[in-house]
Amino acid sequence: MAKGVLLIISGPSGSGKGTIVEQLVSELGYCVSISATTRNPRPNEKDGIHYFFKTKEEFEKMIDNGELLEHAAFCGNYYGTPKKYVEEQLESGKNIILEIEVQGALQVKKKYNDAVLIFTMPPTLTELRRRLEFRGTETKEVIDARINRAEEELEFLPDYDYIVINDTVDEAVKDVDCIVKAERMKCSRNPELKNKFKGVVNK
Ligand code: 5GP
Repeated sequence: MAKGVLLIISGPSGSGKGTIVEQLVSELGYCVSISATTRNPRPNEKDGIHYFFKTKEEFEKMIDNGELLEHAAFCGNYYGTPKKYVEEQLESGKNIILEIEVQGALQVKKKYNDAVLIFTMPPTLTELRRRLEFRGTETKEVIDARINRAEEELEFLPDYDYIVINDTVDEAVKDVDCIVKAERMKCSRNPELKNKFKGVVNK
Protein backbone atom coordinates (compact mmCIF):
# COMPACT_ATOMS: atom_id res chain seq x y z
CA MET A 1 0.00 0.00 0.00
CA ALA A 2 1.24 3.49 -0.86
CA LYS A 3 2.12 5.61 2.13
CA GLY A 4 -0.15 8.54 2.92
CA VAL A 5 0.73 12.09 1.93
CA LEU A 6 2.32 14.23 4.60
CA LEU A 7 0.71 17.57 3.93
CA ILE A 8 1.99 20.76 5.50
CA ILE A 9 -0.25 23.80 5.48
CA SER A 10 1.29 27.11 6.50
CA GLY A 11 0.24 30.71 6.15
CA PRO A 12 -0.31 33.75 8.32
CA SER A 13 -2.81 33.66 11.18
CA GLY A 14 -5.96 34.97 9.57
CA SER A 15 -5.22 33.30 6.23
CA GLY A 16 -8.04 30.92 7.09
CA LYS A 17 -5.84 27.82 7.11
CA GLY A 18 -7.50 26.58 10.30
CA THR A 19 -10.94 26.63 8.65
CA ILE A 20 -9.58 24.92 5.53
CA VAL A 21 -8.07 22.18 7.68
CA GLU A 22 -11.27 21.74 9.70
CA GLN A 23 -13.21 21.21 6.48
CA LEU A 24 -10.64 18.77 5.06
CA VAL A 25 -11.04 16.73 8.26
CA SER A 26 -14.82 16.92 8.73
CA GLU A 27 -15.88 16.61 5.08
CA LEU A 28 -13.08 14.75 3.34
CA GLY A 29 -11.78 12.48 6.10
CA TYR A 30 -8.23 13.81 6.37
CA CYS A 31 -6.29 13.24 9.61
CA VAL A 32 -4.75 16.19 11.38
CA SER A 33 -1.88 16.24 13.82
CA ILE A 34 -2.55 17.95 17.17
CA SER A 35 0.40 20.14 18.13
CA ALA A 36 1.85 20.87 21.53
CA THR A 37 2.22 24.54 22.50
CA THR A 38 3.18 26.73 25.44
CA ARG A 39 0.69 29.44 24.36
CA ASN A 40 -2.37 30.00 26.58
CA PRO A 41 -5.65 28.51 25.33
CA ARG A 42 -8.10 30.90 23.65
CA PRO A 43 -11.60 30.90 25.18
CA ASN A 44 -13.00 28.30 22.74
CA GLU A 45 -9.97 26.00 22.77
CA LYS A 46 -9.77 22.62 24.53
CA ASP A 47 -6.72 20.67 25.61
CA GLY A 48 -6.19 17.58 23.44
CA ILE A 49 -8.54 18.85 20.72
CA HIS A 50 -7.05 22.12 19.47
CA TYR A 51 -3.62 21.73 21.06
CA PHE A 52 -1.88 19.89 23.86
CA PHE A 53 -1.27 22.89 26.13
CA LYS A 54 2.06 22.54 27.95
CA THR A 55 4.21 24.52 30.36
CA LYS A 56 7.63 25.58 29.08
CA GLU A 57 9.23 22.87 31.26
CA GLU A 58 6.90 20.15 29.92
CA PHE A 59 7.56 21.25 26.35
CA GLU A 60 11.34 21.23 26.84
CA LYS A 61 11.08 17.71 28.26
CA MET A 62 9.27 16.60 25.07
CA ILE A 63 12.16 18.04 23.03
CA ASP A 64 14.76 16.28 25.22
CA ASN A 65 12.91 12.94 24.97
CA GLY A 66 12.88 13.17 21.15
CA GLU A 67 9.06 13.15 21.08
CA LEU A 68 8.73 15.96 18.53
CA LEU A 69 9.05 15.71 14.76
CA GLU A 70 9.79 19.45 14.65
CA HIS A 71 9.41 22.46 16.89
CA ALA A 72 9.75 26.22 16.62
CA ALA A 73 9.29 29.45 18.55
CA PHE A 74 6.58 31.70 17.12
CA CYS A 75 5.68 35.14 18.51
CA GLY A 76 7.03 34.25 21.98
CA ASN A 77 5.73 30.69 22.35
CA TYR A 78 6.87 27.20 21.52
CA TYR A 79 4.94 25.01 19.08
CA GLY A 80 5.77 21.42 18.07
CA THR A 81 4.45 18.30 16.34
CA PRO A 82 4.31 15.02 18.31
CA LYS A 83 6.10 12.45 16.15
CA LYS A 84 4.42 9.12 16.94
CA TYR A 85 0.89 9.90 15.68
CA VAL A 86 2.17 11.29 12.37
CA GLU A 87 4.33 8.22 11.71
CA GLU A 88 1.43 5.86 12.49
CA GLN A 89 -0.97 7.61 10.08
CA LEU A 90 1.55 7.63 7.22
CA GLU A 91 2.37 3.95 7.68
CA SER A 92 -1.33 3.06 7.53
CA GLY A 93 -1.69 4.90 4.18
CA LYS A 94 -3.61 7.91 5.51
CA ASN A 95 -3.00 11.49 4.43
CA ILE A 96 -2.08 13.62 7.41
CA ILE A 97 -2.06 17.38 7.74
CA LEU A 98 0.35 19.43 9.81
CA GLU A 99 -0.86 23.01 10.20
CA ILE A 100 2.46 24.60 11.15
CA GLU A 101 4.57 27.71 10.57
CA VAL A 102 7.48 27.98 8.17
CA GLN A 103 10.47 27.07 10.38
CA GLY A 104 8.77 23.81 11.38
CA ALA A 105 7.69 23.14 7.78
CA LEU A 106 11.28 23.35 6.58
CA GLN A 107 12.47 21.00 9.35
CA VAL A 108 9.88 18.41 8.29
CA LYS A 109 10.81 18.76 4.60
CA LYS A 110 14.42 17.90 5.51
CA LYS A 111 13.27 14.67 7.20
CA TYR A 112 10.50 13.79 4.72
CA ASN A 113 11.61 14.75 1.24
CA ASP A 114 8.19 13.84 -0.22
CA ALA A 115 6.21 16.06 2.18
CA VAL A 116 3.95 18.45 0.27
CA LEU A 117 4.16 22.08 1.39
CA ILE A 118 1.21 24.39 0.78
CA PHE A 119 1.19 28.09 1.68
CA THR A 120 -2.21 29.72 2.15
CA MET A 121 -2.81 33.45 1.80
CA PRO A 122 -5.87 35.66 1.96
CA PRO A 123 -6.42 37.75 -1.21
CA THR A 124 -4.59 40.78 0.38
CA LEU A 125 -2.75 41.78 3.59
CA THR A 126 -5.50 44.33 4.29
CA GLU A 127 -7.96 41.47 4.28
CA LEU A 128 -5.65 39.60 6.65
CA ARG A 129 -5.77 42.46 9.21
CA ARG A 130 -9.56 42.68 8.82
CA ARG A 131 -9.93 38.96 9.54
CA LEU A 132 -7.67 39.13 12.62
CA GLU A 133 -9.54 42.15 14.01
CA PHE A 134 -12.89 40.51 13.30
CA ARG A 135 -11.79 37.35 15.17
CA GLY A 136 -11.33 39.52 18.25
CA THR A 137 -9.16 37.01 20.13
CA GLU A 138 -5.89 39.02 20.01
CA THR A 139 -4.79 42.44 21.28
CA LYS A 140 -3.69 45.13 18.81
CA GLU A 141 -0.01 44.44 19.70
CA VAL A 142 -0.41 40.73 18.96
CA ILE A 143 -2.21 41.50 15.67
CA ASP A 144 0.62 43.87 14.65
CA ALA A 145 3.23 41.23 15.52
CA ARG A 146 1.37 38.61 13.50
CA ILE A 147 1.03 40.89 10.45
CA ASN A 148 4.79 41.60 10.61
CA ARG A 149 5.46 37.89 10.92
CA ALA A 150 3.19 37.27 7.89
CA GLU A 151 5.42 39.53 5.78
CA GLU A 152 8.54 37.71 7.04
CA GLU A 153 6.98 34.31 6.31
CA LEU A 154 6.29 35.33 2.71
CA GLU A 155 10.06 35.30 2.16
CA PHE A 156 9.87 31.51 2.44
CA LEU A 157 7.37 31.10 -0.37
CA PRO A 158 10.01 29.72 -2.80
CA ASP A 159 10.55 26.79 -0.40
CA TYR A 160 6.90 25.76 -0.73
CA ASP A 161 5.41 23.54 -3.44
CA TYR A 162 2.04 25.30 -3.87
CA ILE A 163 0.23 28.50 -2.92
CA VAL A 164 -3.52 28.46 -2.34
CA ILE A 165 -5.29 31.83 -2.19
CA ASN A 166 -8.13 31.52 0.27
CA ASP A 167 -10.81 33.72 -1.23
CA THR A 168 -13.65 31.34 -0.42
CA VAL A 169 -13.07 28.39 1.89
CA ASP A 170 -14.94 25.87 -0.27
CA GLU A 171 -12.73 26.62 -3.29
CA ALA A 172 -9.55 26.56 -1.19
CA VAL A 173 -10.52 23.16 0.26
CA LYS A 174 -11.13 21.80 -3.26
CA ASP A 175 -7.75 23.18 -4.38
CA VAL A 176 -5.91 21.45 -1.54
CA ASP A 177 -7.74 18.16 -2.15
CA CYS A 178 -6.84 18.31 -5.88
CA ILE A 179 -3.18 18.83 -5.00
CA VAL A 180 -3.21 15.79 -2.71
CA LYS A 181 -4.99 13.62 -5.29
CA ALA A 182 -2.39 14.54 -7.92
CA GLU A 183 0.43 13.87 -5.46
CA ARG A 184 -0.94 10.39 -4.70
CA MET A 185 -0.92 9.62 -8.44
CA LYS A 186 2.78 10.41 -8.81
CA CYS A 187 4.73 7.47 -10.23
CA SER A 188 7.37 7.92 -7.55
CA ARG A 189 4.72 7.26 -4.87
CA ASN A 190 3.43 4.09 -6.57
CA PRO A 191 6.46 1.94 -7.47
CA GLU A 192 4.53 -1.31 -6.87
CA LEU A 193 2.14 -0.61 -9.79
CA LYS A 194 4.85 -1.51 -12.31
CA ASN A 195 4.74 -5.15 -11.20
CA LYS A 196 0.96 -5.20 -11.01
CA PHE A 197 0.58 -4.45 -14.75
CA LYS A 198 3.69 -6.09 -16.17
CA GLY A 199 3.27 -9.28 -18.21
CA VAL A 200 -0.45 -9.71 -17.48
CA VAL A 201 -1.83 -9.41 -21.06
CA ASN A 202 0.12 -12.26 -22.75
CA LYS A 203 -0.49 -14.89 -20.07
P1 5GP B 1 -1.82 30.02 16.78
O1 5GP B 1 -1.23 30.61 18.03
O2 5GP B 1 -2.50 31.08 15.94
O3 5GP B 1 -2.69 28.83 17.06
O4 5GP B 1 -0.60 29.46 15.90
C1 5GP B 1 0.48 30.30 15.60
C2 5GP B 1 1.31 29.67 14.49
O5 5GP B 1 1.90 28.45 14.95
C3 5GP B 1 0.48 29.28 13.27
O6 5GP B 1 1.21 29.68 12.11
C4 5GP B 1 0.39 27.79 13.35
O7 5GP B 1 0.27 27.19 12.07
C5 5GP B 1 1.73 27.45 13.97
N1 5GP B 1 1.78 26.14 14.59
C6 5GP B 1 0.79 25.45 15.19
N2 5GP B 1 1.22 24.25 15.60
C7 5GP B 1 2.53 24.17 15.26
C8 5GP B 1 3.53 23.15 15.39
O8 5GP B 1 3.32 22.07 15.90
N3 5GP B 1 4.75 23.45 14.91
C9 5GP B 1 5.06 24.63 14.33
N4 5GP B 1 6.29 24.79 13.87
N5 5GP B 1 4.14 25.61 14.16
C10 5GP B 1 2.89 25.37 14.63
